[in-house]
Amino acid sequence: MGCSQSATIGIQSESEIFPGSTHTSQETIPNRNKRVEKLPALERVSLNNVREHHQRFSLCSPTPGESHQTRIQLQNFDELNHFEYTFINVLLLGESGVGKSTFINAIVNYLKFDTIEQACSGQPIVLMPVSFLLTVGDNFEERIIRFGNEDPNEDHHHPGQSVTQHCRSYVFTIGTRTKIRLIDTPGMGDTRGSDQDNLNMQHILSFINNLSHLNAICILLKPNESRLNVVFRSYFSQLTDFLGENIRNNIIFCFTNTRGTFFTPGNTAPLLKEILGKFSIKNIPFKKSNTFCFDSESFRYLIAIQNGINFDDYQKEEYKESWINSVNESNRFLGYICGALKTYPSDEWKSINHAQFQINQMIRPILETIRNLFRNLILYEEKSSTQLIKLCPSVVAHSSTICIKCNRVPKDYNEFWIYPDDLHTFSNKCLNCRCSRNRHIDINYKLDYELSNNVNKQFIDEIKLKSDQLNQAIFEFGCFFVDTSRTLKTNDLILSFLNQMIEEENQICQLKTNNNLNLILYKQLNQFKEEYEQRQNVSISNKNSINLNKIYILSQNISRIDLIEKQIDVIKQYHRTYMNEQEKQLL
Ligand SMILES: [Zn+2]
Ligand SMILES: [Zn+2]
Repeated sequence: MGCSQSATIGIQSESEIFPGSTHTSQETIPNRNKRVEKLPALERVSLNNVREHHQRFSLCSPTPGESHQTRIQLQNFDELNHFEYTFINVLLLGESGVGKSTFINAIVNYLKFDTIEQACSGQPIVLMPVSFLLTVGDNFEERIIRFGNEDPNEDHHHPGQSVTQHCRSYVFTIGTRTKIRLIDTPGMGDTRGSDQDNLNMQHILSFINNLSHLNAICILLKPNESRLNVVFRSYFSQLTDFLGENIRNNIIFCFTNTRGTFFTPGNTAPLLKEILGKFSIKNIPFKKSNTFCFDSESFRYLIAIQNGINFDDYQKEEYKESWINSVNESNRFLGYICGALKTYPSDEWKSINHAQFQINQMIRPILETIRNLFRNLILYEEKSSTQLIKLCPSVVAHSSTICIKCNRVPKDYNEFWIYPDDLHTFSNKCLNCRCSRNRHIDINYKLDYELSNNVNKQFIDEIKLKSDQLNQAIFEFGCFFVDTSRTLKTNDLILSFLNQMIEEENQICQLKTNNNLNLILYKQLNQFKEEYEQRQNVSISNKNSINLNKIYILSQNISRIDLIEKQIDVIKQYHRTYMNEQEKQLL
């Protein structure tokens, strides 16, 4: 490359490109290249919710002769199966444009290469492809610098717009027993507006809700900000509202481009202090010990060199030193998240928002079970039937929806008409119909129905008991919703699902002439809804105080009822599969 101009690293924009799942490098790392990093003793956490994904990708070659410096432990695939790893889960949050993707790539390379010379002669690790604009030479010509193979399906015409719309996680191994999972999140302050920001936040919450624990929430910032985004405050407070106030000690701050501020937070520090002082959760620490200052530009310098850009001696010296500073900060970061920080297990996340989130996940399982118990009681009472209807939940793919506009054909189960779950796959548009997005309801499991024959008096009594227990739970959850809805500006999801079920029965009754049983069900569901609303009204006028513990105990008890548990199990499977798809492992 004959580019003799020296470069000014003036990064104007960055687009982040995600690799497909086809990285299949089979290169193995010789044993002599492994070095065991001694880390402080860790509290062991069993990873019970996230099944590990042993996908190989992007194995890096160690630098010949310098491989003993490798501090990221590289494992043979087979070895993975013999160890139980402690996972350190780190959630990364930052405004759009703060350079999260570059940060993730950079930190892995700082942990691998002690000096920039080693990085230059070695092969930098690509956790995800990144491209950015660089202005070069006296006339500030723009050059696009690329790192890693781009995915041809991605849109690169809007650099700067946050491409990360889903959470993704990147896992690498430290030492022999520890894996770091960096969770990348959609950027705050999305150019598509605050609705998108709220959607992003819901997505982040539903992602971390599947983790067994969190170790750190890492807030990425630039030094010398003139103001901190409003969205930043809203994101941050939503997250702390969800995780409960004990999360405060697991919050850390990482500054990405601090070479210009001599590796300090610069003017962002007073702004941040001011905002932290106004949060509902007090005493969030912001100290040297939980603050880390990197220089992502030294990583970009490395990539620029690999793209054939030349730099003058002054710049070379500058980035050489900056790399070493970043390496030191990365080691301190690692020591802190693996050592000083106490794990925050999910069973300690307690808050109104968190409880509501758990309830929301159970709404469909509970209400579908209630509807089916109603059906069975009607069958027994009206027909003295010996055949009952059984719910059979099954796992679905992530983009599964049901179209509420398309005609569905009800199926007959012992003279009960039931709409089957006709699945439509929705990505950018529906692959099965032409209806719009808002006509499609996301579902996280599918219900089928079967007839079973084991009816006796005792069985019917059990059904009545369960039905009563579930009805009471729904009333409690409904009251919890109205008692707390001043802080939760969301719709009553129980009521809207109830309305949807009632509407389905209404449609069926109009569609079918032999509709006796469905008509009774329709009436019973309406009565149920009336009672639900009455209970809510009583709760509002009583101004009941909120008993969060009672709600947690109730939702736990309900989730252990076999009919509900089966449905929740397939929902969990659905989430696990999704999280595995979003995870890249550096082996
Ligand atoms: Zn449709
Ligand atoms: Zn459709």
